[in-house]
Amino acid sequence: MMIENYIRDIQDFPKKGILFKDITPLLNDPKAREECLKLLVTDLKVEKIDVVVGAESRGFFFGMLIAQELNAGFVPIRKPNKLPAETISASYALEYGTDSLEIHTDAIKKGDRVLIHDDVLATGGTAKAMCELVESLGGEIVQVNFLMEIEFLRGRDKMKDYPVFSVLKY
Ligand code: 5GP
Repeated sequence: MMIENYIRDIQDFPKKGILFKDITPLLNDPKAREECLKLLVTDLKVEKIDVVVGAESRGFFFGMLIAQELNAGFVPIRKPNKLPAETISASYALEYGTDSLEIHTDAIKKGDRVLIHDDVLATGGTAKAMCELVESLGGEIVQVNFLMEIEFLRGRDKMKDYPVFSVLKY
């Protein structure tokens, strides 16, 4: 099974000049999904993971599957003003301007062993902000994993402090 066959290239999305990696074919195929999930959890079966943290919104899909497989909690990190209870936020740089992400303050307990998941590692801004949020609540980051990594954008450089795993590299 070649998981890359279930990732579709979309030219000029969301803006002209961007080649977007579309994971919807992967989401829509149970066998490919199963195979991908296996690769994401293999190394983690020997680790105790208390909580899987996923980024809005494409980090929710496999994040939840991973959490179920590892019998761990699942915590969403969301765009501003989406989470209903008390939150903290972290900002990160975009090409133009900044954006921010939020997490519920009671979602992670001090010392929780955390897996961070998102669909794509590009520049690393999103993943780095997620790490900051988890650490400011006292979580210990065991691994950060992705379905794909766009290597030329060098997101890994921002993630030097953490073990990073990605299923596919482009
Ligand atoms: P970064 O913050 O690393 O630059 O960008 C990563 C975030 O942007 C992820 O949350 C991811 O969902 C989204 N993203 C960036 N490029 C792509 C892409 O080509 N395909 C998909 N599916 N998501 C992308």
